[in-house]
Amino acid sequence: MGVGGGWRGPDQSLGGLPRTFGLQNRNTGGDGPQKPLDRVLLRRVLTCLSPYKTLWVGIFACLGATAALGVVPPLLVRGILDDAIPKHQPTLLFGLVGGIIGVNLVMGLLGVLQSFLSAQVGEGLLYDLRNRLFLRLQQMSLSYYTTTRAGEIVARVSSDVGAVQGVATGTVISIANNLLTVIATIVVIFGMNPRLALLALVVVPGLYLPTKLVGKLRRKLSAEAQETQADLLAFVQERLHVGGMLLTQLYGQAPADASAFEKLTQRVKALNLKQTLAGRWLFMSLSVFSVAGPALIYLFGGIEALNNRLTLGSIIAIVAYLANLYRPLANLANVYVDIQAALAIFERIFSLLDHDPEIADAPGAKTLTQTRGEVRFESVGFSYPNAATPALSELSFTIAPGERVALVGPSGAGKTTITYLLPRFFDPTEGKITLDGLDLREITLESLRARIGMVTQETFLFHASVKQNLLYARPDATEEQLTAAAKSAHIHDFLAALPDGYDTIVGERAFRLSGGERQRLSIARALLKNPELLILDEATSSLDATSESLIQEALETLLQNRTALIIAHRLSTIRTCDKIVVLEHGHVVEVGPHEALLAKNGLYAELYQKQFRPVSTN
Ligand code: ADP
Repeated sequence: MGVGGGWRGPDQSLGGLPRTFGLQNRNTGGDGPQKPLDRVLLRRVLTCLSPYKTLWVGIFACLGATAALGVVPPLLVRGILDDAIPKHQPTLLFGLVGGIIGVNLVMGLLGVLQSFLSAQVGEGLLYDLRNRLFLRLQQMSLSYYTTTRAGEIVARVSSDVGAVQGVATGTVISIANNLLTVIATIVVIFGMNPRLALLALVVVPGLYLPTKLVGKLRRKLSAEAQETQADLLAFVQERLHVGGMLLTQLYGQAPADASAFEKLTQRVKALNLKQTLAGRWLFMSLSVFSVAGPALIYLFGGIEALNNRLTLGSIIAIVAYLANLYRPLANLANVYVDIQAALAIFERIFSLLDHDPEIADAPGAKTLTQTRGEVRFESVGFSYPNAATPALSELSFTIAPGERVALVGPSGAGKTTITYLLPRFFDPTEGKITLDGLDLREITLESLRARIGMVTQETFLFHASVKQNLLYARPDATEEQLTAAAKSAHIHDFLAALPDGYDTIVGERAFRLSGGERQRLSIARALLKNPELLILDEATSSLDATSESLIQEALETLLQNRTALIIAHRLSTIRTCDKIVVLEHGHVVEVGPHEALLAKNGLYAELYQKQFRPVSTN
């Protein structure tokens, strides 16, 4: 299932059991051997949490106070049963009952305060990590985006970071809370009656082991369910989508897809049912053992009471403490794995934060405030990551200042790749490219890219207004500059006639604009930027004659007084170029003006016959 891997569904309960954040992580899920805790990683996680020291102190104070207060109510109950009632002391009775209510009220208030503080830590961490991740992702080179599934990036920024928030506060707080409660309870019951306290602890293994086993099983099932759920979501995403639906309907694959979908849902159903059952076993074993504890206390405590060695109130109090003991112990049964899972999520985020961008400013890189526009490719070789053969090799040619150079060649010859190297979306793997004699790698990325404009075949527009899309190229442009650019690109009249004019929202894929309109918008955007160097990938799709001539005129305005590198598909464009670089398999085969190349009767002449001559639009 192609895109399935990275997609992770929202936090939800599966099979009626809420998933904890730890269990959600399928990279650590399953029942594999437990690896030792990575101390370096743990220290780094703690560093992430350290800016919230004051809040943590508050949280732990709340937890400590709650655990201490938690042991008070059974003592008050004992007072009622052993003193207030037998000794007929109504004032004491009122006092003790009031005490029970008061203690619970204070504990409730402390709980609210603790939730408030931990939410602050969680949200703060979420905010920090999300912003750090976004900044880092912005610096990633284009190759990162061509090799990483979009769903995975979304998952990193949304669900992983979101999970970290819960893990950081949830896991830490739950561990501290359970530990403190267990310690406080054990101290008190040992103080009351050591023998009964030991008896209470006898059943702990019986409680602990099934919890651990079922936890393990549940984790395995949860990991599988997570995977299947991800496949299901990816399937829905891919099929129930304009492009996917078009293919499904065109190739009559609806029944096949429906049965594939049914298989996936069947798997989800089976796994969910299994998970629910695993949960039931857990509850059953818990209830059996939580009954066994009190039963033992009643029995042996009763014998003690018969011998006058224990009061009734003490028996009741110890039984009440058992809940305070068993519940947190069960919660702690899988704590180690939960910590591992939590760390794994942090690890994934850290690995992304540590990912050094391949394309970055070299130390001492120069800022280019303007350029003459002299570009030299010197024995340039380039291979895409993981590609078997190089896309470009031994490639040399020059673009003189103000020159218009056309790149021509069969599909796959390397034309687009060349245009990617100029703004340093990729760096050459061999040789170098210079601008005004400077290696591109010696120029700051920002100042290099500021000199370059790009009009590509596919116009990408953000889901925003026309105006915002245009301003993306130059945020400080005035209203006049905006209109002037749109007028030069022959798109102003169209934009002005839209329902909201320049404020009309264009969809992400600009469905409401025709191909020609999108191209002219893209030309207007480039005009606003006003770069000295222009890269133009001419659209291959043919447009109607009016659109075509509007675009040609707009392009002519854009190309004026600029150095340009053009992937040309039209004879009319090629004719206006000073020089044509003919490419094949990443090599330069011929260079020269149109007439001279035709006279050579080589690859260009052949391409000209096939591609350009019959109709001027392709
Ligand atoms: P053109 O624009 O001339 O059609 P390209 O520059 O797009 O050619 O492609 C040149 C070669 O590089 C082709 O063989 C293509 O398959 C390969 N290629 C293009 N993009 C990638 C990529 N992201 N990863 C691996 N190979 C690529």
